[in-house]
This record gives sequence, C-alpha cells and structure tokens, in this order.
Amino acid sequence: MRTILPFVARLGLMLLAGTWLVTAQDFSKVQIKAIPVAGNIHMLEGQGGNIAVSTGPDGVLIVDDQFAPLAEKISAAIEKLDSGPIRFVLNTHWHGDHTGGNAHFGKKGTIVAHANVRTRLAGKSDTPKEALPVFTFTNFASVHFNGEEIRLIHLGPGHTDGDTLIHFTKSGVVHMGDLFTNRRFPFVDLGSGGNLAGLLHDIEAALELIAIRLFAPLQPWFWMLLLTLPLASLAWAGRVPPEAPADRSQHAQGDNAWNLLRLPGLLRLLLVNWLLSSSWDVHSFLVPVLGHERGFSASAIGLVLGVFAVAVAAVRLAIPFLAHRLAERKVLVFAMLTAGAVFAVYPFAHQAWVMGVCAVFLGFALGAVQPMVMTTLHQLTPPHRHGEAIALRSMVINLSSAVMPLAFGLVGAALGATGLFWAMGVLVASGSIAARRIGPQSALP
Ligand SMILES: [Zn+2]
Repeated sequence: MRTILPFVARLGLMLLAGTWLVTAQDFSKVQIKAIPVAGNIHMLEGQGGNIAVSTGPDGVLIVDDQFAPLAEKISAAIEKLDSGPIRFVLNTHWHGDHTGGNAHFGKKGTIVAHANVRTRLAGKSDTPKEALPVFTFTNFASVHFNGEEIRLIHLGPGHTDGDTLIHFTKSGVVHMGDLFTNRRFPFVDLGSGGNLAGLLHDIEAALELIAIRLFAPLQPWFWMLLLTLPLASLAWAGRVPPEAPADRSQHAQGDNAWNLLRLPGLLRLLLVNWLLSSSWDVHSFLVPVLGHERGFSASAIGLVLGVFAVAVAAVRLAIPFLAHRLAERKVLVFAMLTAGAVFAVYPFAHQAWVMGVCAVFLGFALGAVQPMVMTTLHQLTPPHRHGEAIALRSMVINLSSAVMPLAFGLVGAALGATGLFWAMGVLVASGSIAARRIGPQSALP
C-alpha cells in the first residue's frame, strides 16, 4: 500500500506548474525529464507547464504539451515510457507553454479542452487547425482510459476563463495546470478572463479532492475502530448494576401509555422536548443552506457543524460535574431562551467564523438539555412507568425528525432561510413558558 506522504510529495511535484514565458528562449538546451508520480502516471519536466502522461493498454494520454519547439523531444520522452499510440491530449488552459505542442500532438491524438480554450486559440491568427481542440466541454467531462476515469473539471474562471482540473481518479493524481504554482502566488491572467476569487475557489476544490484521497486509505482502520465502539459500550453496559424489575402489582386495570399524558407537566415536557429537537434539526438543515447562499466552501460548512457537535459533547462531559448545582427546569428555560437568541442572530452571521460562534452557543444550550429532559421525565412519572414515558418521548422525537424537515422545506420555501431561523427562534423561546410551568413530581390520579 502506498503511504500518504510520498503521495503528497508526488502530488506536490505534479502540481508544480511552470511559468508562462514566451520570451525568446533557447529550447535546444532543454532536457525532458520523466518522473514517476503514481500508478501509471508520469510527469514530464522540460520548459513551461509540466506534462502528465498516462500509459497503459489503451495507449498514451497526455495533459498539456509545452512549447512547439520541444515537441520532438517530448515525443521521444513519451516513446521511452510507452511506445503505444498517443490517443488523447488534454489541455488545462490555452497558454502557450501548455498548448504549444498541440499542432504536433493534434495530428496523433484527439485534443480535449474547455470550450474557451478553443475559442481563444482559434482567435490567434497563427494557430494551425490541428492545434485546435476537437472535443470541447463547458463544465465537466470524463475520459475512461487505461483502467481509470480521468475527470476534466471546470470550476469557473481562475487563472484564465478556460481552466480545467484534471483528476486521475484511480491513480490519485490531480493536474492543476497553472492554478497552482510552487512557492509563489499563482498568476491571474485577467486578459484571458482570469479571476482571483475564482482561483481561490478552484484551489479549495482541488484540496477537497486531495483530502478525500488522503482519508480513503484509512477506511479499513476506520471501520475497525467503529466496530470496537458498540463492543466497548456493550462491555461497559455490563458493569451497570441491574435495576429491580418494575412492580407489576402497581399497574391499575386498563393502564396504557397514553393515559400517562394526563400526568401534570408531562405534555409540557414533551412539547419542550419536541421544540428542542426541532431546533437541533433546523440547525443541521439550515447551516448548509445558509452557507451555500453565502458561498462558503463545503469544508467551512462542515467546520460550523463540527464545532456545534464539539460544543454538544463538551457540555455533556461537564454535566456530571455540574448536575447537582443545576435545577432541571431552569436549565431548560435558559437553553430555550439561548436557542431563541442564537436563531435571532444567526442570519446576520455573514462570516463562517461568526456562524461557528453561534453554533458553539447553540451546541452548549441544546447539548445541556437532553440529560435534563431525561431527569425531569423520571421525576414526573411513577417509577413503574418510566419505560412507557421514555417510549413516549422517543416517539415524539422520531415523529419530529420525520415530519419537521418537510415542514422546514415548506416554511423555508415561503420565508427563506432567515424567516425559518426566526420562526424557529420565536417558537423555541416561547416554549420556555411551557418549560417554566412543568410542575413538580406527581402520580397518576
Ligand atoms: Zn498559464
């Protein structure tokens, strides 16, 4: 199995892209050097943008072809790697140090590029017909070649308006053209429709591709680790002292779970529980929507949801140490008011970190309530009916998880994300009145 670091190092080399220099150069001294990257992919270094070469049973596919005067040398270097026919030439963008060899290699294979690459090359009077891409696309295309899918992804204007990220999905190699330059800031060619914000977005997308690749080899271990979790909890559960079975003689004739709802306070507690679990769901539902609206990356949105989960876990770890100092109902009221306040300000959070701060407060509030709901439930119900009460609570939560996302979709479509946040804020904050009125322990009549 390949280790991660060499992969990153190789990828770094692969990402290294040359400068676009069309000043007079002495190409006679340029040597073409082939460097193995990963799988059946090699990188050719010469002058200008690096070339990726895929070799194998289907023949040869190259990404970019440097300058025209180097074409013969490049051909010879490819021949040494694989004497098969050159079937495809993929262009990452139109600059001369990436497409200069098109006229030479276009006679051998099919040139594939973004539509703007063809338009820009065709706009130059000295471009021969063979140098023009034959197959063009606008957003996405795939070439299935040498046993892997090679994805051509256009993410919008970056270095130019026709940049393509080329992802060799099985080998785990990304050719970035000039979207990435080693040790210096990439060049944004405004004259070719480049865009700085777009360039940052493109690099971020490429990093996500790399992150997926880095974590994929961990999977077998990851699943093994997950397997140990239920086993560990089973072992721990065995250490919990057994509780005496419920006294069945206390059950009155005709008792069923529904008449538990007549217990003073229980209906209110279930309402409070429903509002709190809906708050949780609405947050998970809206953060990606809001984040997408604001143009945040998937990783930024994931981070906001991640800090929420960390805050929930942290407050639950703290609860055993704080429980004896806290009154359940006060915590419920405080948590609901906090959730309402957080929902009120959330739509004003225009930066990912501000959303993160909101998520932390919400995580503290919502994380603290579940243990409080459970203890209150125990206090409100007679001991021999705890099981039924817990079942009622589970039913409310499951019903809410099934129905509420539908309601969120409808309300969200009508009011927008902001409206939905505020509606939920008002609901959960007014629910604190019900929380305040949950009465003391009592028994069934
Ligand atoms: Zn370039």
